This record gives sequence, C-alpha cells and structure tokens, in this order.
Amino acid sequence: MVEESIESRGISDRSVLEAMAEVPREKFLPAHLCEFAYDDKPLPIEAGQTISQPYVVALMAAAAELRPEGRVLEVGTGSGYGAAVLSRIAGEVWSIERHEVLAASAGQRLKELGYSNVHVIHGDGTQGWPDEAPYDAIVVTAGAPTVPEALVNQLTPDGRLIIPVGRKRKVQHLLRIRLVGRETTVDDLGAVRFVPLIADQSWAEFD
Ligand code: SAH
Repeated sequence: MVEESIESRGISDRSVLEAMAEVPREKFLPAHLCEFAYDDKPLPIEAGQTISQPYVVALMAAAAELRPEGRVLEVGTGSGYGAAVLSRIAGEVWSIERHEVLAASAGQRLKELGYSNVHVIHGDGTQGWPDEAPYDAIVVTAGAPTVPEALVNQLTPDGRLIIPVGRKRKVQHLLRIRLVGRETTVDDLGAVRFVPLIADQSWAEFD
C-alpha cells in the first residue's frame, strides 16, 4: 500500500513512509472492516466518524515537516491511527477528541499497542490544548469553515498548522499555515473531504 498509494503519488519523506509502513492500520478498525485496512480509503468507525484515508494521513504528516524531537497537537483523534503515525515521526503527540467514547477507546488502544508518546485528551480541539502549547505542528483531521485563531496562537515561531478549510461541508482545501514571525503564509495542498470540525461557532453559521 505504501508504495502503490503513497510513494507513487509523490510523498518522498522517508520518515513518513517508514511510519506508514510500520503502523498496523487493521488494529485501529472495527473487526468486520479489517480486510479493507490496506485499501487507500477512509472507513467508518464508531460515533459516525471515519478513519482517514492513508494517503491523506501521509500527506498531512509530510506537510507538517516533523522532526524527531517535535511536539505535535492533533485535533480529531478518531480511531487513534493518525496519532500513531505522527508519534513514529515526532517526539511527542497530544491528540484531542470531542467524542468521549472515541477518546476513551483510542486512548486505550494506543496504550495497549505501546504508543507511549501519545496523550489523548477528551475536549473541544477548536480551542487547541493550551496546557502543552506551543507546538511545532498542529494537524486538524476534520474540516473547518475558517481557520480557528486559537490554533494559530499555539504554534511555535515557524510552526505549521495543517487544516482542511472550506465553506461547503463536502469540499475543503488542505491548507498549511506557517507562522513566520508575526505573519502567516498559506500553501494550498489540494482538495480533500473530511468530516466536519464541530464547535459552537463552527459550521452552524455557514449552513
Ligand atoms: N485522525 C483520525 C480521523 C478521525 S475523523 C483517525 O486517524 O482515525 C475526525 C475526528 O474529529 C472525529 O473523530 C471527530 O469526532 C473529531 N472532531 C470533530 N470536531 C472536533 C473538535 N471540535 N474537537 C475535537 N475533535 C473533533
């Protein structure tokens, strides 16, 4: 899968390819979907959410420009798969999930599988996780209508925020927002489709 679906589509960062080859995606899926674990597709998990498509997980991890000592915040733990991948590339990962049932099951799963540098938090990730800020990278795995200011404020100087942004629920563009001094630069990494980022002021005002 790594060669066919990820490397062939232009992801060349060795640490990302190694992490993708190492993390067993089937361990993050409901038992009846295990046979599809290495299809390059998103799949349903509990609470009406999805485990991201492997190519998109790799794309986000590469865009985040992680280093072995890096500190990362993931918004949207879901199954814990993305957090596991990030934890093989960076030093420490905090991952925040709004569904309590998902935060609990992903936290337990990551612990059992030995991903001891991942910390799962139950809460609203649109506010980030100020307790451990600043982060070298923040990776948001749900689509937002606009960029949450709180997340930009929790980046280190030169920190990267990877986030799907779009005013329509079904189409977003994956953006890399880089803090450069007090300014930000934006790279558009292409069209993507994620489940919505849920927050008080998030989609409601755009629907
Ligand atoms: N990275 C996950 C993908 C999960 S899908 C994986 O690899 O499995 C996106 C997740 O974002 C869902 O679990 C959803 O519940 C969560 N989410 C949506 N809005 C959120 C918010 N405001 N704070 C935290 N998590 C949120």
